[in-house]
Amino acid sequence: QAKAAGKGRVQHFNEAMLDQAHERMQLESSVLQALQRNEFDIYYQPVHRLPLADKAKPVGVEALLRWRQGNRMISPAAFIPVLEESGEIVAVGYWVLQQACRQVRHWQQSGAEELKCSVNLSGLQLEQQDFAQQVQRVLTDTGLSPASLVLEITESLLIDQSGSTLANLRELAQLGVRIALDDFGTGFCSLGYLNRFPLHVLKLDRSFLNQADQCSKQRAICRAIIQLARTLEMDVIAEGVETREQVDFLHQERCYLGQGFLLGYPMPAAEFQQHFEQTLSTSIPASSHMSAL
Ligand code: C2E
Ligand code: MG
Ligand code: MG
Ligand code: MG
Repeated sequence: QAKAAGKGRVQHFNEAMLDQAHERMQLESSVLQALQRNEFDIYYQPVHRLPLADKAKPVGVEALLRWRQGNRMISPAAFIPVLEESGEIVAVGYWVLQQACRQVRHWQQSGAEELKCSVNLSGLQLEQQDFAQQVQRVLTDTGLSPASLVLEITESLLIDQSGSTLANLRELAQLGVRIALDDFGTGFCSLGYLNRFPLHVLKLDRSFLNQADQCSKQRAICRAIIQLARTLEMDVIAEGVETREQVDFLHQERCYLGQGFLLGYPMPAAEFQQHFEQTLSTSIPASSHMSAL
């Protein structure tokens, strides 16, 4: 189509493409050095019980990777694929795991005894033959108990799994580490996967909840996923909780855990610490049917 558009436009088009390609190449080469250059940071987003009581303590945190470029924070969606293509995600993922476990252990020791730590995994990490041992080493080094760690994987990781993935998942489950299926319902997993793999938590993708207010079918899908989790004795965490109405809906559907901007944004460690120190001064009634998270 570019040819048909005439000479001037072709040139214009190519320059724009070159600019884009150049920018991408720069991004790619610089993100590969970000670990050595200390440019990565971890943000922590709270997981809360629903309905949210005033000043309730978070029951967990999800570690979310950020790349600091000057005073810009770059979101992982922009660079995780680059790290995966080069294999660098294995080293970066290990770093995230170490940092997050150490941080959460520290928070546990300063009063948040029950706080759980969720870390996102890439498929490449789980394909490494000794991955479960690596996790065990991190737990030993940081003093975090296996039951405090939740590893989040995606449906696509299960579909493309090869090598040691299944063995690692089993070994991790054996250790007492819990496995969460992230963004559940958006991939192409058949329900048989829920049985074939050791999975303990379903994360209801935020796209379903997003439209639950306006769309009765989306509400029905949320309801079905929540029931599925309950039937399989898995925990379910609603992602992307942004409104009071959504909290009411989730509570009514008996989904008791949520994560989202209404409950807390992803924030730097220091800020998260302030956030939860405020909650420690008030006593929270021990109200829960939720065993785990
Ligand atoms: P995810 O694991 O599903 O994480 C949730 C994403 O939703 C986060 O985006 C979070 O900031 C965003 N979010 C949370 N609450 C809300 C809400 O109420 N509304 C909306 N619109 N968004 C919300 P983020 O931090 O940009 O991360 C994107 C994805 O990058 C993550 O999705 C995860 O798949 C991946 N990721 C993040 N950190 C790591 C990591 O350390 N390793 C790997 N392999 N992947 C990571
Ligand atoms: Mg996640
Ligand atoms: Mg998710
Ligand atoms: Mg998501």
